[in-house]
Amino acid sequence: MINFGYTRVTTPKAAVEALVKNSNAQWLAGGTNLVDLMKKGVIVPQNLIDINNLPLKEIKKDNGKLHIGALALNSDVAENDLVRQQQPLLSLALQAGASQQIRNMATIGGNMMQRTRCSYFYNPDMPCNKREPGTGCGALKGFNRMHAIFGTSEKCIAVHPSDMCIALVALDATVLITGPKGERRISFQNFHRLPGDAPQRDNTLERGELITGIEIPDNAFKDHFHYLKIRDRTSYAFALVSVAAAVSLQGDTIQDVRLAMGGVAHKPWRLVEAENFLKGKSASEANFRQAAAVAMKGAQGFGHNNFKLKLAPNTLVEALKTATGKA
Ligand code: SF4
Repeated sequence: MINFGYTRVTTPKAAVEALVKNSNAQWLAGGTNLVDLMKKGVIVPQNLIDINNLPLKEIKKDNGKLHIGALALNSDVAENDLVRQQQPLLSLALQAGASQQIRNMATIGGNMMQRTRCSYFYNPDMPCNKREPGTGCGALKGFNRMHAIFGTSEKCIAVHPSDMCIALVALDATVLITGPKGERRISFQNFHRLPGDAPQRDNTLERGELITGIEIPDNAFKDHFHYLKIRDRTSYAFALVSVAAAVSLQGDTIQDVRLAMGGVAHKPWRLVEAENFLKGKSASEANFRQAAAVAMKGAQGFGHNNFKLKLAPNTLVEALKTATGKA
C-alpha cells in the first residue's frame, strides 16, 4: 500500500469541505471495500478523510417514513426492531450480504458506494474501462461468468454487487445528500447508473456530495416478501442472481407488487413491466412465469454467463412463490 494522509472530521460540512479541497481524497467509513481496493492498487488516494464520527447513525421514523443514517452499520440496521417491523425485506437483504464480521463494520452509505467485484477491475495488470477509462473491457470477451445480462454497453458489462440496494430500489427509497451546492434528494432508482460511455461512474453523485441517509416510505409489503439470493456457496459470496419481491395481496389477488434483481446489471435492476403485468392478477405460478418472461425482455448473455438467462426467470418465480406462500 502507498502512503496516504489521514484526517478525521466531525460534521458533514467539514467532510464536504475537506474532500473538495483535496483533489485526490476519499472518505473513509467502514473501509470494508475501500481498504481492499487500496491494498490492490486499484484506488490510490493521497488522503483519507475519516467520516466515522459524523452524527449519521440514527434509525428513526420520520413523517411516516423510515430514516436510516448513512453511517448506521449494516448489522445494526438488519437487526433493528423498527426496520424488521416496517421494512422486513430490507432486513432480509442485508442479512444475505457479506459475512457477519463485515456487516459489523460496513455502513449503509458505504454499501451503496461499493465497487463492482469484476476480477478485471481488481487486477491493475488487466484492461478495464472502469478502473482506467480507454483501456478496454477485459470481461467482454474474457471470463464473464458473474457479469451482466441487462443494460450493458460495449465499454463495460460489470454488475452492481450489493444485496441491500436491490431491496432499496424495490422499496422506492430516497437517497439524502449534502454537498458543495447544498442538500438534495435522489430517488434510489436514479442513484446508480448504467455504464454507457462512462463506466468509471457508478452513480449520479457529483464530486463532493456526501450521502447523509436514506428514507423509505411506508408500504403494504410487511406480510408477503422475500429476498432470494442464488450464489456459489451459501454464505459470504456475491449473487449470481438475486431477487427482491414484495407483494400486497387481497385474498389471492395481487394488489401491488415490487420486484428487483441483483447480479444482472450495473445498477439494481427494477422490473417495472413485470410488476405492471402482475397487478390485479391472481398469485399463481402460471402468472409468475409470464411475469418472468416479461422481465427477461432484452436480456443478453456474453458466453460464460449465459446460464443467467435461465437462472434469472427461475429465481424470480421462486421468490414470488415464497413471498406469496405458494412455495
Ligand atoms: Fe472493467 Fe467493467 Fe469490463 Fe469489468 S466489465 S473489465 S469493470 S470495464
